[in-house]
Amino acid sequence: MLRVLVLGGTTEASRLAQALAQAGVDGIFSYAGRTSVPIAQPLPTRVGGFGGVAGLQAYLQTERITHVVDATHPFAAQMSSHAVQACAAVGIPLLALERPAWQAHSGDVWQHVPDIAAAVQALPATPARVFLAIGRQHLAPFLACAQHWYLLRLVDPVLDLPTERGHVVLDRGPFTLEGDRALLHAHGISHVVSKNSGGAGAQAKLTAARERGLPVILIDRPPVPARQTVGTINDVCLWLGCAGS
Ligand code: NAP
Repeated sequence: MLRVLVLGGTTEASRLAQALAQAGVDGIFSYAGRTSVPIAQPLPTRVGGFGGVAGLQAYLQTERITHVVDATHPFAAQMSSHAVQACAAVGIPLLALERPAWQAHSGDVWQHVPDIAAAVQALPATPARVFLAIGRQHLAPFLACAQHWYLLRLVDPVLDLPTERGHVVLDRGPFTLEGDRALLHAHGISHVVSKNSGGAGAQAKLTAARERGLPVILIDRPPVPARQTVGTINDVCLWLGCAGS
């Protein structure tokens, strides 16, 4: 009898939950709890950390989980690493649903950087108007560069900025090209900083930046341990043996 733990937080995880619910698969959806009102799921949902690898191991056993699907954000490397370790320790199969990283197109002005610190360093010494599309964590090192003005797009109103320092837009993806074109134009953005999250929901800003010839500082994904990985929800369903073709 299948009982699937879906580690969520992405659009793909929500789509997977839909597919599993439609197929009548018994499962639990897990959120980190990074937003105050997470998107409702058609599976029973839990919110918050498990308490490290040991906590996840205990959870898998207590809940009699038979399969784990890691559909977390590509930058949620700690959760992914914990899932690899905990599943190996208790002998539960793990599959990662991973979206490909974004690739540059003709006309893109991308600078790839390995991490947040390098992204801060990549900004110019002179004042810039920066669309900082990296979520709520790791804003501090950017804001410490007082010469720049920042446009932040956040799900929750976790901070405010004085108008001379920036502007906060409250919004949740997927984002449209029209909307991101308008944002870059309205705020006179000169640079975009983004994680290389991949996927369609947050890609519009890259297209809008290309159209305006704006430089994009793109933060590489953190490394995660080797695990079995697929790219589509259909592949996950095939792996679970519950549907797909
Ligand atoms: P993380 O650094 O990999 O995880 C930190 C801890 O959060 C984990 O060790 C785990 O706590 C808990 N956690 C993470 N995902 C969980 C889940 N699905 N269910 C239950 N607990 C979970 O990940 P993060 O801090 O959430 O995010 C890291 C980066 O990923 C952020 O900078 C953000 O840009 C990006 N991101 C994450 C999400 C998301 O939903 N997590 C969504 C969009 C973007 P325990 O060790 O206690 O189990």
